[in-house]
Amino acid sequence: MKRNTVLKLSGVERHYGQGETLLSILKGADFTLNSGEIVALVAPSGTGKSTLLHVAGLLEHPDSGEVSINGHPCNGLLDDKRTAIRRSEIGFVYQFHHLLPEFSAIENIMMPQMIAGLPRVEAKQRAAQLLDYMRIGHRGAHRPGELSGGEQQRVAIARAVANAPSLLLADEPTGNLDPETASYVFDALEALVRQSGLAALIATHNHELAGRMDRRVTIADGKVVDF
Ligand code: ADP
Ligand code: MG
Repeated sequence: MKRNTVLKLSGVERHYGQGETLLSILKGADFTLNSGEIVALVAPSGTGKSTLLHVAGLLEHPDSGEVSINGHPCNGLLDDKRTAIRRSEIGFVYQFHHLLPEFSAIENIMMPQMIAGLPRVEAKQRAAQLLDYMRIGHRGAHRPGELSGGEQQRVAIARAVANAPSLLLADEPTGNLDPETASYVFDALEALVRQSGLAALIATHNHELAGRMDRRVTIADGKVVDF
């Protein structure tokens, strides 16, 4: 499979004002992620993992530096263009699933596809395939509240990749699960990434899972370094 650079951060800075003081979280972070690659982001709480993922996912603007997605610099773009890139190219998974509680699992996965303009029948077909792929095909009709934590996260992952993004960003996706379930969910995520060739950056505190990824990076003094 041909490898291309999906995500590139160059000299990314992010500072938060806290009263009189300025909290510098990212201080010139550089990072490159290629298609087909799964990278673990392992760092203590409060070091800026979520900040890095939000900036990479175009959910926040960096104060300085550049974020490029598939070779396209994104900083100067208008918000609606950034939103369009986010919807088509980026999938985001959170620690807590953020599924819509009043919709079934399959409807949750259909939603982003229908927003993107796919006909209902096709969206449903792809959602069913993704559920099968995550080995929860039999749970499609259930609402999130009727699913286990591991099942909820597998639905959330399926939803994140529903529009076939090139980049998957996950913020402690298994942080809420017991080790065995976390391992099972990661198996499914890994199979999906390997099969689709997307690039994944996954923040985790789980060293066992981090050890199974292709590379590990951490945040030290506001920069991304190999770990
Ligand atoms: P992590 O995900 O590694 O736990 P975060 O990226 O969430 O770290 O946060 C890094 C630091 O930035 C923390 O000290 C946090 O309190 C601070 N921070 C994050 N977001 C904001 C914000 N919107 N305003 C002020 N401080 C923030
Ligand atoms: Mg965080």
